[in-house]
Amino acid sequence: MKNIVIIGGGFAGAYIAKKLEKNKDFNVILIDSKNYYEFTPGILRTLVSPKHAKKIQVLHTHYLKKAKVVVDCVKKMTEKEIITANKHKLKFDYLFICSGSSYNAPFKEKNIVNLTRTRHIRDYYHKLDVAKKIIIIGGGIVGTELAGEIIDFYKGKNEKEIIVIHKHDKLMERNHEKTIDYADKFLKKHNVNILYNETALNYENNLVKTDKNRKIKADLVFLCTGITPNSEFIPKKLLNSEKQVNINEYFQVLDNKSNKPLKNIFAAGDITSIKEEKLAQNAEKHAKLIVKNINLIENNKEPKSYSPEKRIIVISLGRFNGIFQYKNKFIITGLLPGLLKTLIEWKTMRRYKL
Ligand SMILES: Cc1cc2nc3c(=O)[nH]c(=O)nc-3n(C[C@H](O)[C@H](O)[C@H](O)COP(=O)(O)OP(=O)(O)OC[C@H]3O[C@@H](n4cnc5c(N)ncnc54)[C@H](O)[C@@H]3O)c2cc1C
Repeated sequence: MKNIVIIGGGFAGAYIAKKLEKNKDFNVILIDSKNYYEFTPGILRTLVSPKHAKKIQVLHTHYLKKAKVVVDCVKKMTEKEIITANKHKLKFDYLFICSGSSYNAPFKEKNIVNLTRTRHIRDYYHKLDVAKKIIIIGGGIVGTELAGEIIDFYKGKNEKEIIVIHKHDKLMERNHEKTIDYADKFLKKHNVNILYNETALNYENNLVKTDKNRKIKADLVFLCTGITPNSEFIPKKLLNSEKQVNINEYFQVLDNKSNKPLKNIFAAGDITSIKEEKLAQNAEKHAKLIVKNINLIENNKEPKSYSPEKRIIVISLGRFNGIFQYKNKFIITGLLPGLLKTLIEWKTMRRYKL
């Protein structure tokens, strides 16, 4: 039996574990700092509706029938083994690094295990419920979707004053003009004040200071800026300057010094150096190809290479409005994309909950 160790049970890791455990020659171990898989794009809705968490979380032990699940945090890795916070040492024949990235609280948690998470989000729910003035720092997809959820949930009752501080001159600036324009108009129509070309410098006691010498008091502040790779445990020689894992076109991890691949160590998802949007769909595409390639490699065949592509993006603006963007070319806006996002969530979770 070959020892397969997977670090991280998100979009990439959970998929790899679920598929590779079917191979009778593999002894699969999934290590995750939390004991459940979660549909991250659905997290924003749990802020306005905490019971939504049940719909987007499923225990790893539910969908994994054979693989062993270790709930622990990986602290160190070498070319042969990994070491966890609880001092577990696990040797591997194949290692898959799928530890993803982190958003600023409260969007993604890594060191919190179990249902503490839901309680944590519920804390924000109560704070949000009583807040009158909210600041969202960052007008990327996450900040825009968050504003959409708050608008939708509090429409006609207990409406909030929302301010978005965005350092660029457009919301979600890497997307199509029509997408940007629709989101801008939608937020403004719902009285969101968008401060373009402005950077929040710090926030203390809910007082946000910006680079334009503005001081804005708010009851609640959300940070929706940038993601950081969860790569603290990975040797520096395997990382690029952005702390992402360097990989080749087969997802094999590259050693910076020799530029040679470590043939049995792979990485997938947000943690990788691939130049593309960090999306759940991309993480799953990586995972699918990796699974295919492992089977090819095991049968002494040539693995297939990966090349990044522009993907379909579905952006929700609450439950009943949204934007569907086909490879930055074709855009549909309104009710249909809003519903589509819920459908994607349901379809993805069904794969893990059945
Ligand atoms: C609010 C929000 C909305 C989003 N909306 C969309 C969307 O609409 N569409 C889309 O395609 N993408 C969306 N994304 C991006 C998407 O969630 C990520 O691209 C995706 O989660 C990446 O998958 P992954 O498997 O690489 O990592 P993750 O899903 O982040 O999983 C990583 C896992 O590794 C674990 N981990 C981390 N470090 C360690 C460690 N040291 N030891 C053990 N375990 C560890 C974590 O607990 C986690 O379970 C959104 C993200 C956020 C935050």
